[in-house]
Amino acid sequence: MLKILTEPTASLRERSRELSVEEVTTPEFQTYLDQLIQTMIVSDGVGIASPQVGKNIRAIVVNMPKGPECFMNPEIIKKSNDETESEEGCLSVPKKFGVVMRHKKIRVRALNRHGRRVEFDAKQFPAIIFQHEIDHLDGILFIDKALRMVERAKNNI
Ligand SMILES: [Zn+2]
Repeated sequence: MLKILTEPTASLRERSRELSVEEVTTPEFQTYLDQLIQTMIVSDGVGIASPQVGKNIRAIVVNMPKGPECFMNPEIIKKSNDETESEEGCLSVPKKFGVVMRHKKIRVRALNRHGRRVEFDAKQFPAIIFQHEIDHLDGILFIDKALRMVERAKNNI
């Protein structure tokens, strides 16, 4: 399992760099993605972003309806005006939970773990996970956006 960095850590606040298709398809990177997925599962998370384990590259794992999937260079290219209040926690901000406004529906463009470009709509819970993880890639934590803190939340993203 990879070590999860927690706030305050300077590198959690940096913008992570883009990955090339060549980098994504190397055996070393594929092994890294498997470690990232394992780290998320063992930590009881439903999403994780690479900067949380000290690698400032644009790679995330999202627990999708069919299981954990990896996305590189993820971008939100469309978002609904409709927003929802989301109760969130974060593996990098232990024992804190807060309410964040998130778009209900988004369109995502990314590279999958085979280095192929994918584009799809995400709604409900996966949409929230994508917004939380992409924030990590830009050095943003949910505590920056929280409307209010709460006692606890169901999900660590
Ligand atoms: Zn997080």
